[in-house]
Amino acid sequence: MIRAILYLIAAVLLISVLRSVIGIILRGFAELLHPSPSAAARPSSQPSGGELKKDPVCGTFIAAATSIQKKVGGQTYYFCSPECRDKFK
Ligand SMILES: [Zn+2]
Repeated sequence: MIRAILYLIAAVLLISVLRSVIGIILRGFAELLHPSPSAAARPSSQPSGGELKKDPVCGTFIAAATSIQKKVGGQTYYFCSPECRDKFK
């Protein structure tokens, strides 16, 4: 009878240890697949001092630093994507 109780306690301990180990492993995988928001939030706060330029094709405003630029006849045009730049021709 005492043996049965000991087995039960051992089983409960084993299960709780396994659960915590699996939890740690799963959390590690989740962080690999979905990087923590603090790291992902950093790029969004980039060049706030950048000038905003208007895409002449679709009308979107983009930061000059991150836009695609094309010089036509001495004037520089700013595009949001290569597709818009190609459409401008
Ligand atoms: Zn565009």
